[in-house]
Amino acid sequence: MVYPNLIIRLDYIQENAASISQACFKHAIDVCGVVKGLHSEIEVAKAMVSGGVRQIGDARLENLKKLKNAGINVPLLLTRIPMLSEIEALVDFADISLNSEIKTIEAINEVCMMKKRSHKVVLMYDLGDLREGFIDQEQLLHTAIQIEDMDGVILEGIGTNLGCYGSVKPTIENLSELVLLANRIESQIGRKLNIVSGGATSTLPMVLEGSIPKGINHLRIGESILLARDLPDLWHVPLPFTHKDTVVVKAQIVELKRKPSHPIGELFLDAFGNRPTFEDRGMENRAIVALGRQDFAYMDQLIPVDKELEMIGCSSDHLIIRIPDDSDYKIGDVLSFETYYGAMLFLSGADHIHKTFIK
Ligand SMILES: *Cc1c(COP(=O)(O)O)cnc(C)c1O
Repeated sequence: MVYPNLIIRLDYIQENAASISQACFKHAIDVCGVVKGLHSEIEVAKAMVSGGVRQIGDARLENLKKLKNAGINVPLLLTRIPMLSEIEALVDFADISLNSEIKTIEAINEVCMMKKRSHKVVLMYDLGDLREGFIDQEQLLHTAIQIEDMDGVILEGIGTNLGCYGSVKPTIENLSELVLLANRIESQIGRKLNIVSGGATSTLPMVLEGSIPKGINHLRIGESILLARDLPDLWHVPLPFTHKDTVVVKAQIVELKRKPSHPIGELFLDAFGNRPTFEDRGMENRAIVALGRQDFAYMDQLIPVDKELEMIGCSSDHLIIRIPDDSDYKIGDVLSFETYYGAMLFLSGADHIHKTFIK
């Protein structure tokens, strides 16, 4: 095997997709599997579809194009509000997109008319997290009515995003507001909306405990399928029948030496312009692993599989690890690390990380 290597367990991702889809299905909720956290890999999208997700979502159109060309045969949803410069590609490669600007929606409609195609939109309602979406309910309602008059754009539904920027928690109160708004729109346009999208992984706990308001019928789930770690580890919400060791990065030891724990000489700035401080613990055994911040971005989001190992620092290309005095690691040994979402995002997108898919 070549290193560093990111081992991706497609079998686990498929099982996670199946567990989450089934839990949601019990509450009449469809799952859009969001693949952007794992470099939008085709194999990962296929595993999600095999697990039962009804749509595949990604933030970037190039990725949706890649997935469409690879034959992913469920509807593709663009999770980031589209750019005016990508409307043609949007109509070609995405079936559905999340939207919040009438100007953009009008541009989509024009391209649809030109191409004799249609495109579905979900209008985003900002319930206070303050990322994307209409903050003014009347403006959203007005936009919904405008779309009903368009021939190319189809109003598929409404949705919201919570927790991503403002860290606002999904609750019965804010999600009920979304359902009420859906009802208002439905009575104005005289038909049901197909999608009332209640958020992402952070909304899953409400599904599991059964408190999700009736009327929410769609979630866009990335982390809980790709990794299933945030809810059990950070939220202390158990996620039954899921694996959180779906990705493991393996990297090789390139140096092993006994060194002082405190740097020698006058201390100044590190590689990133920080002024670090050091505890003097005397001499210790240290390994340097050929993996760096350029690969994982966040060292504190790596989890050494060998619990005896302690990561003490990193630079762009090196990870420094304290190892117990009695361990028998040698040069060339391979260390394994599980990850949180942020490190997974970077590792899977890093140029110099090889990937191994396990089916
Ligand atoms: C990334 C994203 C998701 C998926 O979020 P997870 O927390 O990974 O489940 C859903 N919706 C939108 C709009 C996103 O940008």
